[in-house]
Amino acid sequence: MSGRTPDGATAGAEPALAPAAPSRTPDDFDRMWDTLAPLGRDKDSGGYRRFAWTDADRDVRDWFRGQAADRGLAYEEDRNGNQWAWLGDPGGRDAVVTGSHLDSVPDGGAFDGPLGVVTAFAALDALRERGAAPRKPLAITNFADEEGARFGLACVGSRLSAGALTKEAAFALRDADGVSLPRAMERAGFDPDAIGADHARLDRVSAYVELHVEQGRALDLTGDPVGIASAIWPHGRWRFDWRGEANHAGTTRLADRRDPMLPYAETVLAARREAALARAVATFGKLHVVPGGVNAIPSLVRGWLDSRAADQETLDTVVTAIEEAARDAAAREGVDLSVVRESFTPVVEFGHALREELGRVLRTGKGEVPVLPTGAGHDAGILSAVVPTAMLFVRNPTGVSHAPAEHAERADCHAGVTALADVLEELACR
Ligand SMILES: [Zn+2]
Repeated sequence: MSGRTPDGATAGAEPALAPAAPSRTPDDFDRMWDTLAPLGRDKDSGGYRRFAWTDADRDVRDWFRGQAADRGLAYEEDRNGNQWAWLGDPGGRDAVVTGSHLDSVPDGGAFDGPLGVVTAFAALDALRERGAAPRKPLAITNFADEEGARFGLACVGSRLSAGALTKEAAFALRDADGVSLPRAMERAGFDPDAIGADHARLDRVSAYVELHVEQGRALDLTGDPVGIASAIWPHGRWRFDWRGEANHAGTTRLADRRDPMLPYAETVLAARREAALARAVATFGKLHVVPGGVNAIPSLVRGWLDSRAADQETLDTVVTAIEEAARDAAAREGVDLSVVRESFTPVVEFGHALREELGRVLRTGKGEVPVLPTGAGHDAGILSAVVPTAMLFVRNPTGVSHAPAEHAERADCHAGVTALADVLEELACR
């Protein structure tokens, strides 16, 4: 069924559909959770290492395909390796789509991503139990390579589909071993020549709703199991290079040193101070020191700043203040400084119409559902440029995320299933 586009790529708009396997009794949320839990888990750390296009990724993708087959859903992979499971016509218009991702950060938690996918299958089962008949095609997705743990760029699958990442730029991505993204996809049995924007498919989507574990404690503080996302904070990464003079740690007088570690240290403190003042966040989480000897004054300290804030203006103010502090500190120590912005994602305001609709559906009989912003990026943020999107959050009692301690209580997960089923019923069945 897949044709060739003028540039020779395989058109992803009409991929081959896997024949619907005979349906057996689908797993419920708890059983699905238990079958997914061991896949890609590191037995020493207890965290997950489900990196794009690895064996662990293949295992979770097989799991997804199995869940689709158990329910007799039409299964397909789009041109960018994103997985889709369809109830109704995959070629139909006004599709309502839900899902998330199954990959992880290094030693990630069990919930970031998988909660949205497992909840999606469970919500679909709930709709069927209610006897709700979708009037629109309904799909569950697993977006490929959301965390960017292997190739350094987040949301590769959704970026490609939305046209926010070109094929050329994707082909230039390399992992730590020098393996390119197309080579990794090929090794996983996928044709990388087909990747690229998939407007024909996304134009048929009327709404994408992603349920996600909250990556903070806002819902824990309000005492609600489920919330609605208002926006994703603008965020960026900046590389700071402080260049001084390598010298002997034992024989060089303090007064004679040009030590780049000192302005670096001052900048870390400035980042914390400026972020606190602006109610933003700023983090130096990665550091590279040259030559990196215990008995050597460094010649270079390279630190990466990650900063996020509620709005663009605040973020600009924070980063400018941190940069000024870094320059002042560098000047005092006779050290040179260069700053490069390596990536930036503008604010994502989820559409008010869809967000308010979710609020109306979930409020019924349960009081107002909290509406909260998040500092974390998501496929839903990428897709919001081309498709109406919304997000639901499930309470995370400690707020820990991207770590093995990430958690949501089972009762809250079930509340998430009900909330998502309510939303899908409203969007697809009425
Ligand atoms: Zn996620």
